[in-house]
Amino acid sequence: MVERRGPVHSMPHIPDDLTLAQFMLDVHHPSRPLRPDGVPWLIEDTTGRRVGSEEIRARVFGLANGLHSEFNIKEDDVVCLYSPNHVDYPVAIWATHRLGAVISGANPSYTADELAYQVELVKAKLLIVHPDSLSTAITAASSAGIPVDRIVLFDDASQGRHRTVQHLIDVGLTKTPSFVERRLAPGEAKKKLAFLSFSSGTTGKPKAVAIPHYAPIANVIQMAVHHKVNVEYAPWEKRRFRPGDVAILVLPMYHIYGLVVNLHFMLYSAVTTVVIPRFNFENMLKSIVKYRIVHLFLVPPQIVLLCKHPATKNYDLSHVRFCMAGAAPVSKELTEDLVKILPNADVGQGYGMTETCTVVAMIPTDQKIGVLGSAGQLMPGIVVRVVKEDGSLAKAGELGELVVKSPANALCYLNNPEATAETFIDGWVRTGDEVLVDEQAELFVVDRLKEIMKVRGYQVAPAELEGHLLAHPDVADCCVVGVPDEYSGEVPLAFVVPHVKALDRIKNDPTEAEKVKASIIKHVADHKVNYKHLAGGVEFVDIIPKNPSGKLLRRVLRDKAKALRSKS
Ligand code: AMP
Repeated sequence: MVERRGPVHSMPHIPDDLTLAQFMLDVHHPSRPLRPDGVPWLIEDTTGRRVGSEEIRARVFGLANGLHSEFNIKEDDVVCLYSPNHVDYPVAIWATHRLGAVISGANPSYTADELAYQVELVKAKLLIVHPDSLSTAITAASSAGIPVDRIVLFDDASQGRHRTVQHLIDVGLTKTPSFVERRLAPGEAKKKLAFLSFSSGTTGKPKAVAIPHYAPIANVIQMAVHHKVNVEYAPWEKRRFRPGDVAILVLPMYHIYGLVVNLHFMLYSAVTTVVIPRFNFENMLKSIVKYRIVHLFLVPPQIVLLCKHPATKNYDLSHVRFCMAGAAPVSKELTEDLVKILPNADVGQGYGMTETCTVVAMIPTDQKIGVLGSAGQLMPGIVVRVVKEDGSLAKAGELGELVVKSPANALCYLNNPEATAETFIDGWVRTGDEVLVDEQAELFVVDRLKEIMKVRGYQVAPAELEGHLLAHPDVADCCVVGVPDEYSGEVPLAFVVPHVKALDRIKNDPTEAEKVKASIIKHVADHKVNYKHLAGGVEFVDIIPKNPSGKLLRRVLRDKAKALRSKS
């Protein structure tokens, strides 16, 4: 066997002359179900406000016009969204697309340094931020050379000097249109950028993944076909996603899973999404009951809470019909627990990555419970190779690195030819995941060959933390690895070779050694978002093992870390 595909191969035409905004707002593709009249697209969790298609279209138009007339946002400019989920988040995306400009979503918990790194790398022209994050955004903008008046707020919090999205919409709806909607020539959607989303790939620091409009459009259609959202073959009661259903949207929209699967695929499927800005477990349970949410898209730590938190039993979740976990592995045991918590739900996993814009495998509609341990079944339009260590291609059931060809694949890492050459090869994406694919096209993720850790579903790049740790005066050399953690999946642990100056102090003095460790942990906590903190601790070592060409032997240290932590 050479290449593997899922059971459904045939794909309808994927439009290659539309922006994502036009695909979502202006045209009707045959794979799309009709949304019944009066069924809103979005519900704002906190207020219950319902936002329908006409309002969204008007807001998108107004904001596009406002962004163009007030800030001259135009072709290929990058707009950075630095905010938790918000009902105007998709409005900001599609308005930017109408101008031919590009969106880069940033984690709203990023520190000023982390945000500055992102906006500098993508050369952002404008930031749209949540008022709570304004002061961090101002610091980051200043250090990246972006004028402070180019920060727009998602909501007004009486921060007078900054314009708001609402203000720009009002301006845009009253002024004569000053922009011409960007239209694409046939084939152009395959190259024209829609998003610059961040991922570390197989090695190194976070990079901007260049995602063209065609990629999310293709992935949404792939999911629509995989789940048969618009086929007459299945009676209503057998359909997983039905027009008018309600889905949760608690996954962050700056991450590819929230953006493509939870937001775009659900809206495309005529499902209403309840937009939840920040994850709080009990509030999430309340919202599931209040809005009769039937579809849950979650990450593994949220599944852990559903299964283990005492509050779960206080809520009637019997109406939930679907629950998918993605972004990191879920154990068989946890899946079995989840089935008991959600007795009426289809339960399973999805697998994807930013570079494949997004889903490669997902629990298909004909499975009530996903095959235990499987990350999902290969989706239509996806072809994979499983490459063994010796470079040959694996047979069904054999282990190897997953390499993916999908119409949704991203193009490259922005301005980074070396990293691009390692990951994007002739239209294929190397995932850095060790997998096996069985005869039924079920994908099992066995290990990660690449450096990144996944902490609560978020990527943590060891190279980023190592670079930062080397700036600490007591650190001579270091290596960061993940150690297993029941809630977070894994957490970062740093092996540190102490600087000679620190050695004398700590050699025979355990209290001093603990102080140095605490100061190293604080050094990370002071500058990095919380999931990057060294929750796995610091271990002093004499030397960081490296191969003859100087490459860190991470696997050796990963095994050592596991052994250390299982003893403690
Ligand atoms: P990201 O680009 O942040 O979505 O991260 C992609 C990576 O997350 C993949 O390459 C995998 O290592 C991991 N991942 C995503 N989904 C799963 C899953 N269902 N099981 C195991 N790992 C996963």
